[in-house]
Amino acid sequence: MLHEPPITPAPNLLPLGPVSGAARVAVLLPYPFAGPFDYLAPPGTDLVPGDVVLVPLNRRQEIGVVWDAPSGPSVPAAKLKPVTARLDAPALPAASRRFVDWVAAYTLAAPGEVLAMALRVNALTPPAPATGFVSTNPLPEGKLTEARRRVLGCANHAMPRSAAELARSAEVSTAVIRAMVHAGFLRPTPIPAAPPFASPDPHYAEPVFSAEQAQIATALRGSVRQAAFSVILLDGVTGSGKTEIYLEAVAACLESGRQSLILLPEIALSAQFLSRFERRFGVAPALWHSDLSSRTRRATWRAVAEGSARVVVGARSALFLPFTKLGLVVVDEEHETAFKQEDGVVYHARDMAVVRARLSDATAILVSATPSLETLANVEAGRYRHFCLRTRHGGARLPEVSAIDLRDHPPERGKFLSPALIEAVHATLAAGEQAMFFLNRRGYAPLTLCRACGHRLACPNCTAWLVEHRALRKLTCHHCGHTEPIPPQCPVCKAEGTLAPIGPGVERITEEVAAVFPHARRLVMASDTMPGPHAAAAAARAIEAREVDLIIGTQIVAKGWHFPHLTLVGVVDADLGLAGGDLRASERTVQLLHQVAGRAGRAEAPGRVLLQTFSPEHPVMQALVANDLTRFFAREAEARRPGNWPPYGRLAALIVSADTADAADLCARDLGRVAPGGDGVLVLGPAPAPLAILRGRHRRRLLLKTRRDIAVQPLLRDWLGRVKVIRGVRVDVDVDPVSFL
Ligand code: ADP
Ligand code: ZN
Repeated sequence: MLHEPPITPAPNLLPLGPVSGAARVAVLLPYPFAGPFDYLAPPGTDLVPGDVVLVPLNRRQEIGVVWDAPSGPSVPAAKLKPVTARLDAPALPAASRRFVDWVAAYTLAAPGEVLAMALRVNALTPPAPATGFVSTNPLPEGKLTEARRRVLGCANHAMPRSAAELARSAEVSTAVIRAMVHAGFLRPTPIPAAPPFASPDPHYAEPVFSAEQAQIATALRGSVRQAAFSVILLDGVTGSGKTEIYLEAVAACLESGRQSLILLPEIALSAQFLSRFERRFGVAPALWHSDLSSRTRRATWRAVAEGSARVVVGARSALFLPFTKLGLVVVDEEHETAFKQEDGVVYHARDMAVVRARLSDATAILVSATPSLETLANVEAGRYRHFCLRTRHGGARLPEVSAIDLRDHPPERGKFLSPALIEAVHATLAAGEQAMFFLNRRGYAPLTLCRACGHRLACPNCTAWLVEHRALRKLTCHHCGHTEPIPPQCPVCKAEGTLAPIGPGVERITEEVAAVFPHARRLVMASDTMPGPHAAAAAARAIEAREVDLIIGTQIVAKGWHFPHLTLVGVVDADLGLAGGDLRASERTVQLLHQVAGRAGRAEAPGRVLLQTFSPEHPVMQALVANDLTRFFAREAEARRPGNWPPYGRLAALIVSADTADAADLCARDLGRVAPGGDGVLVLGPAPAPLAILRGRHRRRLLLKTRRDIAVQPLLRDWLGRVKVIRGVRVDVDVDPVSFL
């Protein structure tokens, strides 16, 4: 998590004057210190808050940002060190600085940890004219090692790529690259400068709206033009034109000369979205996610700070970009749990997007066909405005959802597709239409068991079963990434040929689908087999071009895709998300399955959705079949109100982790002993976490629940302050937890 800033005493260091008579400035460093440190600004240097500076820290030079008020423990001026230099980089705008402080205060993270996210440090140095490498053509004689072959697979003979990028893609060290240059396989070539971001044209291709759509589009435009903070929930059935309409808000924002940010839950989705954006505005927006090359990242960061990137589409980390004149933040699929960041600074991007909008007097639009109960509660309380689209665009009908009771229509032994579903798919294929099988589980089988002794293959580092990935001939832990080959015999009883896969993953369904529909053209879409936006885009194109008959996918297929020829969706295990019994299991299952269902029948041909379930009487299945989500959500909300469960109360989790169970227990018990209490405050636990061991660390959880009018942060600060945490033990704070593992 800590950045190692590459300090190049480069031309972008602006020298500062002499130090005598210097003033104090606070500088926040991108590390988990309690706050900014004071330094001396040499006189005559006009250092202002937001300036990016180089300062000495423990005999090293570090990049930091001048913060607003000189701070912290009052160290006498004589002991302060002077700022070394100011970097020739755009300043971090005031709204971004307030945002860093706000996120830190809300999540109980150190401000510097949050700053690290805002300050992709290597984004700060200006782009140097870079040298990349192309493959030579023809290649020199000689045998190629496996590593070199991989590098050549990643290199191109026309488009230079940097050594670091090549090394990363080919999974080799840069030494391999250097050796290949030396041996004449690669040739150095200058990398052309990244093109500047063209300005999207709000009038490029204006849609013709239906009356219902037009009314909402006008309201959104009005809100953006007001340049005052407001939050709007844009709700409406899948395919009703929500995206089309919020692009109008983007158009209004472009006209007003301000910047827009569109957050997507899954960057794999961005490809189809980008081409849609381009059709509407004539050019692509700037993209922001973790897979960007460092060059693009740097160029984008600067373009956002300078205002030349007018619209950014990104993952949750895009919230921390240095927008100077932000007018609109859109959160698409706002109910998605993917917006919750679980590592490092634990924050919910949907909620922080609202905060970010407020700090810039901007409009926030939360978009979903199945809004979260949190957002609905905010609508109910009058904090958010609400617009709803009731019909699908162009007369497309909503798909008809029905349940297949697996008790009445069981699949063949050892199989997972019921005859009823198979028959429906046959009919769909015969009509020349596409069908999709949905199973939200990666790999071949979630559990491998020895039929002789009953041993189950578990992760050595976690309380979790290993998942078989047959195509890769591996067993993998989905929690820590541990992999091992599939053993030839049971590791315990040594019997051979007794290990059996239990339950289906998407790979196993693919195998079954291939056997049942041997002549259909199949495509698998899973987050692990389809890692980047490019792969997903290629898949989407193939589906749109009808080069595919059957799609088999995990949750990645549920999201905003628009596949006009897809008319049947079969949910292989509709009960899957209901197990485990976490607070939001029902809510999430409805949201996910409704979303998948929404992929069917988006054009003229009507769609059908079949849910394979063992409990068709479950309220979740009933709500989906009756397509009555409003009532379902209202009931769900009422069930949460009495116990002060979110959204009618607040939650914060403490997760204690340690190398040994004893150390974890000791700290968890200490925390339990001094837990806060009183009217409207309740602490549950400590208890072993469901993932009692993760990456070899023993975990315990405590859950603080308060009435909504009680802020959890002061309680948490006070609570944590009363317990001494010994070395090797960690206490992580998760405010508004989404996962309870
Ligand atoms: P949602 O975001 O609600 O799922 P979309 O905005 O993706 O809906 O709209 C569904 C489809 O209908 C898309 O292909 C979109 O381009 C098209 N569409 C929606 N509204 C219009 C409109 N007014 N004119 C033309 N096409 C539209
Ligand atoms: Zn593991």
